[in-house]
Amino acid sequence: MQALPESDVISLEEHLLICPDCRERLQAEIEFVTAMCGAAAKIRDG
Ligand SMILES: [Zn+2]
Repeated sequence: MQALPESDVISLEEHLLICPDCRERLQAEIEFVTAMCGAAAKIRDG
């Protein structure tokens, strides 16, 4: 994942506070990444 400049991160966080739509999308993305990490760990650990 690409790192954002700090000002962009802050404006994104502010946006997320007022935008349930983007919060939902971000949450879905986090869940997806978490699931992928879990799957990768399972594969790695056998
Ligand atoms: Zn939004």
